Amino acid sequence: MSDITRRSFLTRTGTGIALAGLGATILQSTSARAEDKEGGGEKKFGFAFVGLGGFATKQLMPNIAASKHCRMAALVSGHPDKAKKLAEQYGINEKSIYNYDNYDSIKDNPDVDVIYIVLPNSMHKDFTIRGFKAGKHIMCEKPMAVSSKECQEMIDAGKAAGKKLQIGYRMQYEVHQLEAIRILRAKELGELKQITTDMGFRLMDQSAWRLHKDLSGGGSLMDIGIYGLNASRYLTGEEPTEVAATIFQPKNDPRFATVEEGCNWLLKFPSGVLCSNTTSYSYAGQTKWRAICTEGYIDCDPAISYQGVKARVSHHGKDQPMDIPELNQFATEMDVFADCIMNNKEPRSSGEEGLKDVRIMEAIYEAANTGKTIKLT
Ligand code: NAD
Repeated sequence: MSDITRRSFLTRTGTGIALAGLGATILQSTSARAEDKEGGGEKKFGFAFVGLGGFATKQLMPNIAASKHCRMAALVSGHPDKAKKLAEQYGINEKSIYNYDNYDSIKDNPDVDVIYIVLPNSMHKDFTIRGFKAGKHIMCEKPMAVSSKECQEMIDAGKAAGKKLQIGYRMQYEVHQLEAIRILRAKELGELKQITTDMGFRLMDQSAWRLHKDLSGGGSLMDIGIYGLNASRYLTGEEPTEVAATIFQPKNDPRFATVEEGCNWLLKFPSGVLCSNTTSYSYAGQTKWRAICTEGYIDCDPAISYQGVKARVSHHGKDQPMDIPELNQFATEMDVFADCIMNNKEPRSSGEEGLKDVRIMEAIYEAANTGKTIKLT
């Protein structure tokens, strides 16, 4: 295990908190396999990236080099010049550049093991199903798709192909989130009672696909509010039973002709934990959550940044920063997926996990549109 990973799992003096359980299981397994690889020359999984936009080119591609089990193998793009330039930059054979029409022929490329879908949300389903038909494993960005029906079709296609599907919920493998989950499950701060989440930013570019419902499926809830929703589920470890919501879609702002500007929603969990959440495309950048227990609370702010996530634990009025060395979020989630493929394990952020969030978001929109509290089964 690398030093940085090993240190994360050690009991931390001062707080007496040991990062163990879920986080250790997830991250130790990938580290253990890395040692195997170094000893035995194990193959790295070849990734094809579909969609060469901001997230793929600025985060995923530069960071795959830090992974232990993954490497770039192919590009799929509607922009041949951009793809050619990136192929040169990352040493990818020109024969491994595809467009959206000849994408299916990737099935004949043995160098590609995993296809990573980084397209606008409404394109996730088709490219995932085509990828499965090409006999590849799929990583797909969040939100999994624009409807629960589409999510189910993606899951079914993976099962039919006998291939794995992981949704890009990078925060589910991020060390501060994992440590918070451990503290809450161990009830070190007493009983969890309340969660608040605030996730949003100002989106001014009217042409952005995020503001077009046919491409995004919805507004700030689908794009960034989903982080608060997913956090409330992983922090409680429960599924909500009720949702109430309100959305704001200003009539006089052309940015919000088809999607909501913002949404506030309330969730009730079986243990009685209540969760209140906000998201917006019109407020200054916010990514934070707070989990309030009977004897203290955990604050995470910023909670979903690519680096520099910060958390603070307050117990009986005494505050301590959660001082944990960070792991490369992108390399980690790709290595976790490689581990699932190598060891035939179901990814934690599986298709079923993606489907659960999309189902709840559908209920949030229904609650907002009807003004009724929606029961979730
Ligand atoms: P982006 O606009 O930067 O890139 C979108 C890519 O899709 C571009 O390469 C574009 O050419 C291509 N595309 C193909 N057809 C298109 C169409 N009809 N309209 C617009 N673009 C089209 O977007 P992004 O920020 O890279 O987001 C892509 C996906 O990644 C989304 O699902 C988003 O939710 C997800 N994402 C995840 C994270 C995360 O932290 N996990 C962060 C950002 C984005």
